[in-house]
Amino acid sequence: MPLKVALVGIGKIALDQHVPAIAAAAEWELAATCSRQGSVEGVPAHADFAALLAERPDIPVVSLCLPPVPRFGYAAAALRAGRHVMLEKPPGATLAEVLELQALAEAHGVTLYTTWHSRMAHAVAPARAWLAGKTVTRAHITWREDVRKWHPGQDWVFEPGGMGVFDPGINALSILTHILPAPVHLTGAELEFPANRDTPIAAQLRFSGNVSADFDWRQQGPQTWDIEVETPEGQLALRMGGNVLELDGATAGGQATIMGEYPALYARMAELVRTGQSEVDLAPMVHVADALTLGRRMTVAPFDF
Ligand code: NAP
Repeated sequence: MPLKVALVGIGKIALDQHVPAIAAAAEWELAATCSRQGSVEGVPAHADFAALLAERPDIPVVSLCLPPVPRFGYAAAALRAGRHVMLEKPPGATLAEVLELQALAEAHGVTLYTTWHSRMAHAVAPARAWLAGKTVTRAHITWREDVRKWHPGQDWVFEPGGMGVFDPGINALSILTHILPAPVHLTGAELEFPANRDTPIAAQLRFSGNVSADFDWRQQGPQTWDIEVETPEGQLALRMGGNVLELDGATAGGQATIMGEYPALYARMAELVRTGQSEVDLAPMVHVADALTLGRRMTVAPFDF
């Protein structure tokens, strides 16, 4: 019997990735959607989440694809109704609300999965394996993309809780926190806020252990999603958002496609539900919260889509 899932927040990522990943997986069935406007052809659509939970006790899993700020209320309601919950990244608007969800999931005996899709990129597991037991002497992230291309018209990314350039940057941090053999902590940051916006459009981060990051949402032309790591045994680089592995400058694995990430997330969710476990990892979001706590604010040119 496939696991029935209700998908909530039918927007860009739900349609680009979640719907095809669920459709392609024999172990999953998209049994309902909940969205104020969005829907998926052939799937029962609800606008009211409380009504969906009440009317469809046959659906044990809820996958939330909303932006982070409105997500908490939906997640808490689903957990209280005894449903297993899968959260898009970042898992919430604040750390405390995710910890509250974790406690709710435990209290109700259901699964909570804070997904980090970039960790499922092709070359991340081999990079983590190669770095295991090694000493990192330097690491640098370059994550530069065009916000107009990836978030056309999505003003929520520039509203409080939208995280600005940390919305993509947290993907890089999810990889970094997964592959480094020892944890690092943020020691300083410069945050560039457009004069008319509440979240940064660029950020330069410094961490302990000679680790640094450069996030920028104003890049036009080719996009850059690189992580370079130096060790006494050689250099590792992840290109294409964690999909291609280079060792000492030569390609050593992975493939330049991202289509495997969401199928892998749903496979992991199925496993967590089957085995009665939760997976809650806030490490990438701790770095973002620390950058917003410790970072120096700089005002830059206004931004409009
Ligand atoms: P989106 O298209 O702007 O929003 C998804 C849907 O959420 C909207 O279509 C809307 O559906 C619903 N929604 C928005 N604001 C809401 C509110 N205040 N209350 C209730 N529902 C609301 O965003 P997205 O790009 O899919 O991103 C959603 C999440 O996925 C984010 O956390 C993002 O970081 C993550 N993500 C995005 C991408 C990407 O490429 N965009 C990639 C990976 C992960 P209705 O109007 O129909 O209710």
